Amino acid sequence: MRAREVEHLRTELLRQRRTIIETARRAQTELDALRGAERDPEFEEGAQSEHEQYTLSLLGEAQRHQLAMIDAALTRVEAGEYGVCVDCEAEIDPKRLRVLPFALVCTECATRRERGLLAELEEPTS
Ligand SMILES: [Zn+2]
Repeated sequence: MRAREVEHLRTELLRQRRTIIETARRAQTELDALRGAERDPEFEEGAQSEHEQYTLSLLGEAQRHQLAMIDAALTRVEAGEYGVCVDCEAEIDPKRLRVLPFALVCTECATRRERGLLAELEEPTS
């Protein structure tokens, strides 16, 4: 992959990283507001508030996961290994990287990993 393309994708990774952190901060602000509302004696505690907090905690989990993937990709940019599949060491299709700049495996390996994951999730046949 050309250095200019890597640099472009690196910029994109840093932009996505910033977006996630900003979104997380906003979620934190909402959570704080929610907690503030709970301290209000007129606010009725109940399923609604629990559900909202649960959603926010889930959002945080997904963001942390994506952040870890972005950081892993940025580390590979630094190491000069960006765009190379971590599983089979083939070059990852640049078209795939444009859509998923933090992809660490090629399309084939990603499909194989997903199949493996699905097989694990399936109930053992008896
Ligand atoms: Zn691969």
